[in-house]
Amino acid sequence: MMDSPYTVLLLQESPSGRARCRKCRKPIPKGVVRVAARFPAPFGDEEGLATHYLHLRCAARRTPGLLVGLLDAGPAMDVGDPDALRELARRAEEGAASRVELRYPYVEQAPNGKAKCYACGRLVVEGSHRLVVLRTVDAGRFTARRKSFLHAACAAFYGEEDRNGLPEALRANSPLTGEALESALEVVRCAMGPI
Ligand SMILES: [Zn+2]
Ligand SMILES: [Zn+2]
Repeated sequence: MMDSPYTVLLLQESPSGRARCRKCRKPIPKGVVRVAARFPAPFGDEEGLATHYLHLRCAARRTPGLLVGLLDAGPAMDVGDPDALRELARRAEEGAASRVELRYPYVEQAPNGKAKCYACGRLVVEGSHRLVVLRTVDAGRFTARRKSFLHAACAAFYGEEDRNGLPEALRANSPLTGEALESALEVVRCAMGPI
């Protein structure tokens, strides 16, 4: 199941166009059916609950289990195409399941350009290959394992155990397939040099 902070979903007609969708951050137009997602919060209303507003389609992605439950119960308002919403919810659940299955280290295409390579300190360009590793970090009195990033071309700086097994571990763990995987592994092997 996908994590969601919400305890209950309500359908309501959007009374104005001022609220923004919590998932996509775009405004929800006046008059459309929106989802009010309620969750316990220290600064909530008299019931101790706060509310996020979501487009129907965004609710299917953000909190698929609850949205399908709401559809199954027979929604009191017109939700348009319920089967399309169910399909979005199913795909969101699938995506969440495959994400938790990823094991470290793996190689992926950087989905954005925000991560810094811990070896060279430079940003990893969006769309380029990056290694995602669990790195042992000395935090003074204890050590911690922290998710960190490396350019594929900086693979020589991978310092965790089983360094020589890195290419095979990447092959086993990575979401990339086919040519994308092979070209990433080629860069890694080349960066690591002759063993
Ligand atoms: Zn939205
Ligand atoms: Zn680097």
